[in-house]
Amino acid sequence: MLQETRSTSCGRNPRFYGPVRSNEKTEAGERILEALQGFVGAGRQMSETRYEPADSFETPRFSGVRTFMRLPNVRDLENADAAIVGAPFDTGASFRAGARFGPESIRSISHLLRPYNPSQSVAIFDQLSVLDYGDVPVVPGFIEESYETIQSGLEEIHRAGVVPIVLGGDHSIALPELRAAAAVHGPLALVQFDSHADTWDQYFGKKYNHGTIFRRAVEEGLLRADRSIQVGMRGSLYDAGDLDASRKLGLDLVTTDDIRKTSVSETIERIQERVGDAKVYVSFDVDFVDPAYAPGTGTPEIGGFTGREAQEFLRGLAGLQIRGCDVVEVYPQYDGPGQITALLAANVAFELLGLVAVSTRSNG
Ligand code: MN
Ligand code: MN
Repeated sequence: MLQETRSTSCGRNPRFYGPVRSNEKTEAGERILEALQGFVGAGRQMSETRYEPADSFETPRFSGVRTFMRLPNVRDLENADAAIVGAPFDTGASFRAGARFGPESIRSISHLLRPYNPSQSVAIFDQLSVLDYGDVPVVPGFIEESYETIQSGLEEIHRAGVVPIVLGGDHSIALPELRAAAAVHGPLALVQFDSHADTWDQYFGKKYNHGTIFRRAVEEGLLRADRSIQVGMRGSLYDAGDLDASRKLGLDLVTTDDIRKTSVSETIERIQERVGDAKVYVSFDVDFVDPAYAPGTGTPEIGGFTGREAQEFLRGLAGLQIRGCDVVEVYPQYDGPGQITALLAANVAFELLGLVAVSTRSNG
C-alpha cells in the first residue's frame, strides 16, 4: 500500500495529494488539517487516514495498477466513506455471457477520469475518502452460493457506514446487493435505469437470474415499492402484460416511449417525487443507453438514450439519500473499439460517486 505525506511546497491548493493522506503531526500537516476540516465537515470526523486518487500531475494517468480512478486498493473500511467494489459474476445472464470481465474493463478506462465534477460542482475527494475495495468473492457457475458471498461481502461494507459503488457483473448481482443493503438500512427505495424491468418470474424454471431480481427483491421485502421507480423500459417483450407485472408489484415504471413523449427533466421530477427522502439504491444497467453508445452488453435494445442523456438523468438525482448503487451488464468482449461501453460505465460510476459526495456535503 502506498502511503504518503506531502507538503504544500508544490504551490498548489493546501491539501494532501496521493493515494493516501496520512496526517503526520508536523506544523505544515496541522495547518493543512485545519484547512481540510473546513472542506470535509460533513458526515464523518477527520481521521488519521484519507483515501484519494494518485496525483495525475505527478505520474501519468496511463501508469500504475488499474484500480478505479487510481484509488488505493485497500480494505480499511474505518477510514472510508465510499468504496468501489467489483462483483465479477455472470452466471445469471440469459443470452450473452462475459460480464465477469466488466469490473476490470471499467477500472482500466476509469484512469481517464479527473476528480472534479463540474456539472455537480463537487470536488469528490474533498468530500469523501474513497477506496477501491477490490472484488467480492464469487463462485462461477453457482448463483445461490455467489449470492451468499456477494451479500456477506457487501453487508460488511454497509455495516461500516461506507457506501458501496458496485461494478458488475450481470444484473443478477443486484439481489444480493439489496439483501446486504436492506439488512443494514431496512427496505430501500429503488431507482433503476434499464431497458428491461427485470421483474419476470423465472427463466428455465429457475428463480434467480438477471431478469428476475426485482420481483424477488419485492417478494423478499427488500424494497419500498411505493417509493421505487424503474426508468427506460423498451424493446420486445414475451407478453403484453410483462411491464404491468412491475406495476402489480407496486413499482412505478416509465418506459422510454413515455420519456420521449415528455422530457428528461419531467422524468427527473417524477423520480425525485417518487423517492422523496427515502434511503435509496440506484441500479444502472448500461443497456439503458442505446447500443450505439454501449454495445458491450448482454441484451442490447435499440432506440435508447445517449451517453449525454444518461449523465443528465444521473445528475438529476442530486439530493437523494443514496445508500448504495451499481453499474452493471458490461460485457467487454462485445465492446467497440475505444471501449466505449466501459467508458460509459466508468462515467456512470463517477456520476454516482459525485451524487454520494453531494449528499454528504448537503447533510453536513
Ligand atoms: Mn437489468
Ligand atoms: Mn437490461
